[in-house]
Order: sequence, then structure tokens, then C-alpha cells
Amino acid sequence: MSIEVEGLAKKYGDQWAVDHVSFDVPAGQVVGFLGPNGAGKSTTMKMLTGYISPTQGSAKVCGISVTDDSLSVRKQVGYLPESNPLYYDMYVKEYLRFVAGLYDLDKQTKSRVSEMIELTGLQLEQHKKIGALSKGYKQRVGMAQALMNNPKVLILDEPTSGLDPNQITEIRKLITNIGRERTVMLSTHIMQEVEAMCSRVLIINRGRLVADDSISNLQRQHGNKQSLQVKFKNGVDISHINAIEGVIEVDDLGGYRYRIDAKTDLNLQEKLFNFAVETSNVLLEQKEVEQSLESVFKSLTRNG
Ligand code: ADP
Repeated sequence: MSIEVEGLAKKYGDQWAVDHVSFDVPAGQVVGFLGPNGAGKSTTMKMLTGYISPTQGSAKVCGISVTDDSLSVRKQVGYLPESNPLYYDMYVKEYLRFVAGLYDLDKQTKSRVSEMIELTGLQLEQHKKIGALSKGYKQRVGMAQALMNNPKVLILDEPTSGLDPNQITEIRKLITNIGRERTVMLSTHIMQEVEAMCSRVLIINRGRLVADDSISNLQRQHGNKQSLQVKFKNGVDISHINAIEGVIEVDDLGGYRYRIDAKTDLNLQEKLFNFAVETSNVLLEQKEVEQSLESVFKSLTRNG
């Protein structure tokens, strides 16, 4: 196992920011770590990287305890913190050499810095001051920093936050590339990101782990409604479908197509067939729509 977490907890004052979570991540897996703001993602990641110590519980990264030997853990882990702290007055290459120096890479420093510049696509920016870079490129510098020690485990805290759609695609490609050979745990608010990159999802809410599964299992098990996309021959009055008991919502998709959400215990297909007959309409098509990860996330993290 690359990451082993057992009853990990952090208390700030009276609040359990992370409330006794347990999970394992095998080598080579790319795991999405989801949760609303304030759920405890960053705090968990900081404990895993040895930057803060747990109040209770244990965590091991590559078999090394984060509490007993946090220095060794930091050597094994690449960490991109949420705020991506960088020295804006330093030049890209100068900064990356500085980072390499922290890892005692000796003679390899020069080649390692060049490799990281290439891997993260910083060739054209390497002689610029970090402060002069766009947010996307600053993020690449953060990624280069996190990868400098050739870590087996990468912990990325919201790596695409604040980037524009093109930059997001680029960083996503980079992470997918990097994730082929490494264990990656990344936090994000973007569901497509998780669907595109992660084989597994951990969802945390108010410090507690509320889901740990593959995306398809989560969609199957936690979707608390069924959805059908249907096409009628003629237009329908939506209020009539809405009036069917058990129907939750009807969306007009145009072209006599509708998306209908209903409670899971309703035989929706039969009801719609009968509805078509009763209104002298014809049901031309119907297909099941998978619950989106977003609706699963919302139902698992609805607070209050
Ligand atoms: P997330 O990363 O999911 O947004 P955090 O791990 O940053 O959540 O925070 C979890 C909870 O712990 C929040 O309620 C936050 O206010 C609190 N918290 C985080 N760091 C500190 C700190 N240094 N002192 C006090 N409370 C903190």
C-alpha cells in the first residue's frame, strides 16, 4: 500500500476538522478526494505529507509513519499545497534548482531540473521570474517542485483551482501522464476532473469519510432517484408529467425530448407509456440516464 490511514483525526479547539478517517490507497492508483469547503481535505493532506501532526490515529506513506518519521515521508511524497506557495522574485530555473538543492540531489540536480522543466512544459518560461508567469504556468512550477524528488506518491490539493479551461486541460493531461507511474491523491471541486482522471473517489464531509468507491459504484448505489430521457411524437404539457406521483422533476430538452427524474420505487416506464396512450401521444424513445457524480456528491454532502 502507498497510503495507509487508520482513525486519522485532527482537532482544532473544539472542532474535529478531520474526524477519525480510515482508508488505504494501493500503489499506482489515482484517487479523487472530494468534499465541500471546510470538509477537512487540506487538513488530511497536510497530515499525510507530514506538515502537521494528527491529534489521533495514524498514517503511513510508503510504509513510513508520518508521525514517527515525517522527514522521510517528505522525501517520498510530492506535495502541491492548495495555495501553491512560490517565491515570486525568483526565476523559474533558479527556484527549481533551489528545490532540488533541498533534496540533496547532488550531481543529478542539473539534469533533474531540466527534466522537470520539460515534463511540465516550462521550457519557454524557465528564464522568467515566477511572479511574471500566468496562473497556469505558476501551477506548472508547483507541479515541477512537487515532482523534483521523483516521488512515488503525489498529493495535490486543488491543482486546477483558479485556472481557465485551457489551463485546466493542460494540467489534467500532465497529472494523467504523471499518474501512470505514481500514486496520486488529488482534491478538487470539479466533478469532470474526477471522472476524467480518477479510478476511485473518497468523499469527506464535516471531517468524516462518507464514501470510498469507484465512480460507477457510487453512481449505482447512491443515486437516490432514477432518470429517464424520453422522446414523444408530439409535445406534452410538462405539468401533466409532473403530476404523476413519484415524479421529482421534468426538464424540457427540446425536440419533444424530456429528462424525467423520479423516485426509485416508481415504475416510471409504465407510467409514461400509459401517459402517452391517455394523451393520444406516442413514446418514441426512452433511455436510462446514469446519475451524475455531481448529484451523488450533493446527496452525500448535503448539510443541515
Ligand atoms: P477543506 O480543505 O476541505 O476545505 P480544511 O481541511 O481546510 O477543509 O478545513 C477543515 C476545517 O478545519 C474547517 O472548518 C477549517 O476552518 C478548520 N481549520 C483548518 N485549519 C485550521 C487551523 N489552522 N486552525 C483552526 N481551524 C482550522
